[in-house]
Amino acid sequence: MFADLHLHTHFSDGTFSPEEIVVRASKIGHAALALTDHDTVEGCERMATACAAARIEFITGTELTAELNDIELHILAYFIDTQNQKFLQEIKRFQIVRQDRIREMAARLNAIGVPLNADDVFTLANCSAPGRPHVARALVKAGLCVSLDQAFERFLKKNRPAWVPKAKMSALEAVELVHQAGGLAVMAHPGLNKSDEIIPELVAAGLDGIECFHTKHSTATSEHYLEIADQHKLLVTGGSDCHGKSKGRPLIGTVKLPYTHVEKLKAARDAAARTAPAAS
Ligand SMILES: [Zn+2]
Ligand SMILES: [Zn+2]
Repeated sequence: MFADLHLHTHFSDGTFSPEEIVVRASKIGHAALALTDHDTVEGCERMATACAAARIEFITGTELTAELNDIELHILAYFIDTQNQKFLQEIKRFQIVRQDRIREMAARLNAIGVPLNADDVFTLANCSAPGRPHVARALVKAGLCVSLDQAFERFLKKNRPAWVPKAKMSALEAVELVHQAGGLAVMAHPGLNKSDEIIPELVAAGLDGIECFHTKHSTATSEHYLEIADQHKLLVTGGSDCHGKSKGRPLIGTVKLPYTHVEKLKAARDAAARTAPAAS
């Protein structure tokens, strides 16, 4: 039995609906799935329903954009209470910041003579956590770029004319926010960060786990982070980080996390709930 604990739907920057993800996961034979859309939990209800119908275990989640010592990192949250008011308020605040960022990108494009309308990006994104991939798609749709790659290369990549830095919450606050919502906080794809020096600080702040298995981790990278997990007594997670068809082929199925890790996650969640009941 295995699981995929890192998936995106059209509730953030993926292209699949929760139902489409579940159909594909069923064919692969996944026993458990977590939905980790960026800075939102809106897709969780539909995903839970679809998983129940397919007899797949569902874990609520999100992927928070955070920073520590000026390094951007992503914190995966698992088992969060999706009705937790403090959590919802905080991610709502970040959704507004994301929307302001889209407006700023459109303004910068307009300033260099590219007539992209921010509202067209919001219509196309049709989600509360829009990001750069949506701007790229809107540029292509409006005929202002020939491809998503061109949109990133010409305008959206770091230090290109329409690049606007992302607002991030402090990673230490993110860990705290996840805990108070009854969840476990996991550092996403550490192999992409290449900033292992921040791990001890995250551990001291209460980090619960680390994503050792990820589509972009080589076998050697996964082994390296398994060692770090062992060293710091961290839980081990893994997932495909599938964004549907927005990043080439769908990645679901590329990572199959052994189900024993899901059991360990559940045991840790239960132990945390016993020692400090989550506020709601
Ligand atoms: Zn990420
Ligand atoms: Zn992700």
